[in-house]
Amino acid sequence: MPELPEVETVRSGLEKYVVGKRISTAQTFHPRTVKPGSIAPLAAAVGSKIQAVKRRGKFLWLELDRDFTLVAHLGMSGQLLVQPASAPIQTHMRARFSLTSRLGRGRDEIRFIDQRTFGWLSIEEQNNGIPTCVQHIAFDPFESEFDIKQVVAKIKSKKCAIKPAILNQEVLSGVGNIYADEALWRAKIHPEIICEDLSEDEIKKVITSAISVMKSAIKAGGTSFDQQYKNVNGESGYFSRSLKVYGREGEKCSRCGSAIHRIAFANRSSHFCPRCQG
Ligand SMILES: [Zn+2]
Repeated sequence: MPELPEVETVRSGLEKYVVGKRISTAQTFHPRTVKPGSIAPLAAAVGSKIQAVKRRGKFLWLELDRDFTLVAHLGMSGQLLVQPASAPIQTHMRARFSLTSRLGRGRDEIRFIDQRTFGWLSIEEQNNGIPTCVQHIAFDPFESEFDIKQVVAKIKSKKCAIKPAILNQEVLSGVGNIYADEALWRAKIHPEIICEDLSEDEIKKVITSAISVMKSAIKAGGTSFDQQYKNVNGESGYFSRSLKVYGREGEKCSRCGSAIHRIAFANRSSHFCPRCQG
């Protein structure tokens, strides 16, 4: 599932190709593509000019010269590609938008491809530049308003385990299963330890580890596991090579040589080193 680094890679790719262009057509091809909460069909965006591509956590949106915005969530397998209109149609294409530049030439398209159909697009109102569905999402660590002290205090007061706490998008946003496991390994904290039982320094270490692993992943263009996640040019990211625990059950921990364990926990699997994170 695309997490912050993958969504940021898509955001920066879109920014490069679509800002300043106008949306000239919008089509959808699957009933689940448009989120039920959308205030209008995607065709409402036709004629608008894309002014910026924004992101918070795993949410992405196109700022338009309108009083609404076009939001995208990639779900489990969503991709946003920028392609010439002449490119062959992908099997799982769910929506497409054709773009025109000032001169009307260069008919590129934004295509939304989503095999598993958990991703969605929607037209939403915005408040202070933030779409409706993103209002309740906490700042992600790359936003200037992100306050690590506040986040540490919030986590410290929780009676749940540390892993679901850092996955909670209302505490901090952007971290999903992959980067949670990697952050906990780097901080040497077991995923099942109850937040209250951790010191503030330990919690801070988990968060700073999440930030540094996500920074490195952004540089690598994200993690592509199953050919689902791609950047806007259809290329895979190569961060999966740098993962220390996620997807490495049975392999040796690069720090201590113990076998990496995988446990099912909180409806997901967690990968960790039983010695380093004991
Ligand atoms: Zn280890």
